Amino acid sequence: MGNQKNIKSAIWGFIVGDALGVPYEFTDRETMKAFPATGMIGYGTHHQPAGTWSDDSSLMLCVLENLIHQGGPRDLADSFVNWYTKGYMTAHGEVFDIGHTTRNAIDNLIAEVKPHLSGGNRVYSAGNGSLMRCLPYAFKEDISKSINSMIIENKITHRSHLCHLCCIFYVWFVKELLDGGDKLSAMKYAIACIKFRWNISDDEEESTHLGWGNFKKLFAKGFSSLPESEIQSTGYVLSTLEAVIWCFLNTDNYKDAVLKAVNLGGDTDTIAALTGGVAGLYYGYNSIQEEWISAVANPSIIISVLNKIDTNTNNILI
Ligand SMILES: [Mg+2]
Repeated sequence: MGNQKNIKSAIWGFIVGDALGVPYEFTDRETMKAFPATGMIGYGTHHQPAGTWSDDSSLMLCVLENLIHQGGPRDLADSFVNWYTKGYMTAHGEVFDIGHTTRNAIDNLIAEVKPHLSGGNRVYSAGNGSLMRCLPYAFKEDISKSINSMIIENKITHRSHLCHLCCIFYVWFVKELLDGGDKLSAMKYAIACIKFRWNISDDEEESTHLGWGNFKKLFAKGFSSLPESEIQSTGYVLSTLEAVIWCFLNTDNYKDAVLKAVNLGGDTDTIAALTGGVAGLYYGYNSIQEEWISAVANPSIIISVLNKIDTNTNNILI
């Protein structure tokens, strides 16, 4: 595969990051400082063997497969229900990790609530559950159309405008890297895109709460120079996004980027997965530790989704 920037390096980078973070999820930063992560281990928080990937990779792969099949929001909602109830697209045939907002939304879907109404839309529903699965949208040919589909499909679980904006930022950031941009231009384009989309909102009550202040830290020139103590690593969508971008900007290779993410503690798997997605893409497949890739559980499910992509292109053709 070489070091070309393509979707496979991003997807593998993401899944390896997820698996690195799973054993440490919810561990506080002080504990991570005392016992830092240095590689792929098993057990810990969720008592899973080494290489086990979680909801982040499962839901991201559901999105990827749905895009390849040109499915709509209903098809994607069905695959989320299958994941939750039957262990579809999982490392070991079962779900061991799920966020509150996503769980509520899937319970709504099971109760036959329509996919555009099943997601949480309160300010407190601004978790990272839609951000964790948005990576594949960056690889569609028509990025504007892709972002519009993403917002519709985000709503299956998350209807918060802030969640949409964070996803738009991440997808544009990835898209710019895919197109050959460097870290600085990825920041620039992602910020410009959020500013452009600023006025596009739904009917959420949070519109009144959502000011530029939310993005002030991420958009500031000195963002990458902020000390670690200024970077939170919680499941709040904005904190997750800040942590991901900060880890990527402050390292110069895949391994250091994802380990930095895990060692922040907190929502380690999601933050390492999203960091691994950008770092895998930027540094290339060969930059990902071979022993980490070979430790990943149930690789055949990942390979079978990736094999459906035209290998001659960087894009998922639609
Ligand atoms: Mg997870």
